[in-house]
Amino acid sequence: GTRGQVTGIDDLPVRDELRGKSPYGAPQLDVPVRLNTNENPYPLPDALVERIAERVREAARHLNRYPDRDAVELRTRLAAYLTDTTGHEVSLADVWAANGSNEVIQQLLQTFGGPGRTAIGFEPSYSMHALIARGTGTGWISGPRRPDFTIDLPAAERALAEHRPDVVFITTPNNPTGNAVPRETVLALYDAAQAVKPTMVIVDEAYVEFSHGASLLPLIEGRPHLVVSRTMSKAFGAAGLRLGYLAAHPAVVDAVQLVRLPYHLSAVTQATALAALEHTDTLLGYVEQLKSERDRLVAELRAIGYRVVESDANFVQFGLFDGAGGSHAAWLRILDRGVLVRDNGIPGWLRVSAGTPAENDAFLDAVRELKKEQS
Ligand code: PMP
Repeated sequence: GTRGQVTGIDDLPVRDELRGKSPYGAPQLDVPVRLNTNENPYPLPDALVERIAERVREAARHLNRYPDRDAVELRTRLAAYLTDTTGHEVSLADVWAANGSNEVIQQLLQTFGGPGRTAIGFEPSYSMHALIARGTGTGWISGPRRPDFTIDLPAAERALAEHRPDVVFITTPNNPTGNAVPRETVLALYDAAQAVKPTMVIVDEAYVEFSHGASLLPLIEGRPHLVVSRTMSKAFGAAGLRLGYLAAHPAVVDAVQLVRLPYHLSAVTQATALAALEHTDTLLGYVEQLKSERDRLVAELRAIGYRVVESDANFVQFGLFDGAGGSHAAWLRILDRGVLVRDNGIPGWLRVSAGTPAENDAFLDAVRELKKEQS
């Protein structure tokens, strides 16, 4: 027939490095309590929803035109947010924005990675770093972590010397483990990488607003190869908006413009993000609530008898599930009770996002029962 003999991806002339691979796939299941993708559980407040509608209505009048290609107003507001919250002054020229920090990372790898180049991450970490590397033709190196999920600096330095990567990812707080990387470790990794050759170091701070510690953003001063990437998906409670951004030396901002698609940020996205930034104070109020719920999850999980990794994020990694079926069986038992958590494929461990107090109670009830079953 006209559809030929093609029955699936493997019958198509796809690039070799994509053969046999699966797409990023956190299950989107319709269950009562969804604590699996580190979203903010609070819907946007009514006043903000109204403001978004107003801003988008205004933008809609001009949709016959392409949007501001340089997103100047938005980047200026993001720079003001970063300056206000870190005490380190950044401006328009230091900030770039894209459709989620995934796109920011993709643009960085298109610019500084690519065929014949490599990137390293210290795993387990955010799985999309490796997937975006693959998609951009960048070789991926899995760097080491200790069994307690901290970064082993001497081992990391050896990996940098051995593999000579072009890009280094440091996720802090780390996903899925939740722990932050100490400032001194980031500085040491930056210096160790530069000692081998000029290397871009991307500090992924998607969860930094939930951290007990401070943002590493001030480190961009005098370090032109350091990039801090951020997102409005978590602290701003706007995962559906798709808005990520970075702060770095203005030369880095100029460089990523070599690969960004023209008009990549729609006028609707820019208008919505600007409205959300007008409500920063309200949205950051939810962050405080989520931090205390996160701390409660850590304490209660420990009281029930689980092991927990110290968390600086809006989620908690807990275990150990080393009995029959391991973490996947435990994931299913929790799902049976209407609660969706995340199995990241790290043997023995699962990850739960901090939800509303009621959602967290439902989760804690489920894992309390699981503990009884398993002991
Ligand atoms: N970095 C980390 C560490 C993440 O966990 C995520 C989302 N799960 C992202 C980046 C990407 O988020 P977004 O594209 O929504 O900004």
